[in-house]
Amino acid sequence: MKATFPHMGNLYITARALLGGLGLEVVVPPPCTKRTLSLGTQHSPEFACLPLKLNLGNYIEAAERGAEVIVMAGGVGPCRFGYYAQVQREILKDLGYDMEMVVLEPPDAHFSELVDKIKYLCQTDWRRAIQGVRMAWWKTRAVDEVEKRVEWLRPREKVLGTADRIYNRARAAIDAAATRREVELARQQALAELDAVERDPVREAKVVRIALVGEIYTLLEPFMNLDIERKLGRMGAEVVRDLYLSEWINDHLFGGFMRLDSPAKKAKKLAQPYLGYFVGGHGRESVGSVVYFARKGFDGLIQLAPFTCMPEIVAESILPRASQDCDLPVMTMFFDEQTGEAGFVTRLEAFVDMIRRRKEADRRSRAGAMDGA
Ligand code: SF4
Repeated sequence: MKATFPHMGNLYITARALLGGLGLEVVVPPPCTKRTLSLGTQHSPEFACLPLKLNLGNYIEAAERGAEVIVMAGGVGPCRFGYYAQVQREILKDLGYDMEMVVLEPPDAHFSELVDKIKYLCQTDWRRAIQGVRMAWWKTRAVDEVEKRVEWLRPREKVLGTADRIYNRARAAIDAAATRREVELARQQALAELDAVERDPVREAKVVRIALVGEIYTLLEPFMNLDIERKLGRMGAEVVRDLYLSEWINDHLFGGFMRLDSPAKKAKKLAQPYLGYFVGGHGRESVGSVVYFARKGFDGLIQLAPFTCMPEIVAESILPRASQDCDLPVMTMFFDEQTGEAGFVTRLEAFVDMIRRRKEADRRSRAGAMDGA
């Protein structure tokens, strides 16, 4: 069985290890490009959310490489994610692609169904399959750790792009690793290389810290968010997301079994005074993240979401109040296939500039207060 899956940031590393571990032949779709987007938008309903369109483009490009089965996550709740699979299945059928779709529903809602689907996909013995799951987990953790270090380094590095070069090499090495020891070696080597990168003291003195929150696909897929993390890094902003893939897997698939520090999980509780119920997607976490990151001393927060994303529209309407209460500047950015890069960069620059001035004014007033004391 030749299986594929949607692209979402570094998910391909996890998915290749997991599906390969189940004994499937894995067809990794090519990274999202303008062609992927064009294929997706051409064949999707106009008002579908952008992730649906990009995923459809992924499936078509994977079908062109021989993929027969699509493995994707399902969803529950009031947003449109729950019917992505049905819509995409019909579109692919109409286009003449004979692809089977296996939808892995969330275990908290459909545990036995999930087990049945995994049994169906599994082409090997259970011992090897479990090893595949473990391998996928180690790789995901390793990539997340390297990524967090890269996000910290980008606004501080002397030669722009050095951290990204190390990151790309590390991803390739972790992806290719065949044993846990190889994963560990690749992780350690990347972290050592990142630690050795020369830093620029002038840039470092001006670093501002920005939290990125919002809809998961927009947060994790650089093509979708116009590579916001790299752009912010170059502008001198250290970026932290409220959500990393390993944390999402731990919270949603392992029932929080691993003791990971997950901002999104804490944010859900902190949202209570503003939004006390589930609105789908990560809307509630986006609201609570304002409280969480303000307490952590961040300088600003950016909410990212696809245009027409209902959970994030609900969150957006509440964010100004949370922002005011927590004294944390917040900006919302919605993305669709029309989003232009120039306007997007201008908005980012203006936001970074504003929070940098605010931080500087704050520092001066505190210094003045101490001099006067
Ligand atoms: S969370 Fe937003 S983008 Fe994702 S399916 Fe729901 S409405 Fe669409």
